[in-house]
Amino acid sequence: MNKIAIIGTGYVGLVTGAGMAEFGNKVICSDIDKSKIDKINSGTIPIYEPGLGEIINRNRKCKRLSFSSNVRDSILKSDVIVIAVGTPEGEDGQADMSFVFSVVDTISNNINGYKIIVSKSTVPIGSGRKIINIINQKAGNAKLFDYVSNPEFLREGSALKDFLWPDRVIIGTDSKKAYKIMRNVYRPLYINKNPITHTSIETAEMIKYASNSFLALKISYINEVANLCEVVGADVHKVASAMGQDGRISDKFLHPGPGFGGSCFPKDLGALLSISKKNNIKMETVEAAIKANKNQKSRMFKKLISLFEGDLKNKTITILGLSFKANTDDVRESSAIDMIYNIINNQGLVNAYDPIANDEMSKIINNINYFDDLYDAVKDADAVVIMTEWNEFRSLDLKKIKNNMSGNIFFDTRNIISMDELSYHEFIYDNVGRIKK
Ligand code: NAD
Repeated sequence: MNKIAIIGTGYVGLVTGAGMAEFGNKVICSDIDKSKIDKINSGTIPIYEPGLGEIINRNRKCKRLSFSSNVRDSILKSDVIVIAVGTPEGEDGQADMSFVFSVVDTISNNINGYKIIVSKSTVPIGSGRKIINIINQKAGNAKLFDYVSNPEFLREGSALKDFLWPDRVIIGTDSKKAYKIMRNVYRPLYINKNPITHTSIETAEMIKYASNSFLALKISYINEVANLCEVVGADVHKVASAMGQDGRISDKFLHPGPGFGGSCFPKDLGALLSISKKNNIKMETVEAAIKANKNQKSRMFKKLISLFEGDLKNKTITILGLSFKANTDDVRESSAIDMIYNIINNQGLVNAYDPIANDEMSKIINNINYFDDLYDAVKDADAVVIMTEWNEFRSLDLKKIKNNMSGNIFFDTRNIISMDELSYHEFIYDNVGRIKK
């Protein structure tokens, strides 16, 4: 049984730990945030991720999964050390590697036998080599470890499914021994013939950035197509669906909306661009995807304010949905943040409702009104704006909403509400890239 320490018990670390325990490994999830570990040890899962609680409890009962705030001890007890700390956007778009380097430092000081050091954190191409050099210098014996880049492709909201049934697992390493052990860590997957690909460290690092940037690019592309659809009288949903029938294009990531957010796409595109600039290679497509996304976020606000004919002063806008996408409480870089700040800066007032993410958003924005009940949130509002595609928003009681509101403006940035129904209830409405009825 492989003994694994996951360092960093956030969205990726927690799912990776639970998933690797489910694969039959013995896993300690470790974090410097003691309050987080205490919370988990007292039975509370610190993030919202469907199905995660069940799998954690099951593996805990079988004694395959445990949680500790003693990072050093977790390293000493394990043979495979998985780094899963954050790599947020730093200066000039570069990835901030300080959390990773701090973990590397702790690992270097605590190598008590052969270990495989794995990065699940998304790190700039070339970081693996730097990490190897740091540990070699500090630990002083190259033979004591091997390094693996094992990028993670899970999506928040369906993270468990993505981890347990991945499209691919990338294992980037120079070491045959480490590759063999990592295949064993993922044993149930290769038995089920899920593709496990062995690459160099740099190739694995690049695969992660290239994949995320391509998906983000697809979103920016369809958003720009949607914007043009509005002007030329075409329906973006019919366009996207027909495009998606072409196997070369695929229908995934062709949903127009308020611009992408989340903890990965914005920072990963920024990091790739910064790497390309450092290497004097132009990546104009990536640059364009970032720019188009910024434009899309401000375009959403322009659409809202034009529904009010330019004046938001003292108008109450109810924002439905705060997380960057459905089925997560993660609000990092959520388009709702831009929308809320724009409303406040234009002297509007904001009511907010999210089925899960109110608490997370209130840590970033605390001068708006949060509601636990959707229909209370729309009471006396002049406008309702859908920012997240939560399922519960797909079946809104529009009659009740209209009766509770004082105005009749409805802006659906996710295109999830029937335009026929909005017309029937006499809303003045807008959405993204559709022909209005
Ligand atoms: P996160 O912010 O949710 O979690 C990071 C955790 O690391 C936190 O709990 C923090 O307390 C802990 N930490 C920081 N420094 C530490 C240290 N020195 N020792 C121990 N713990 C420490 O981050 P995340 O969203 O899980 O992302 C982690 C990495 O995975 C990032 O590089 C990200 O780009 C990548 N990634 C994220 C996703 C995603 O959907 N969130 C998907 C794929 C890859």
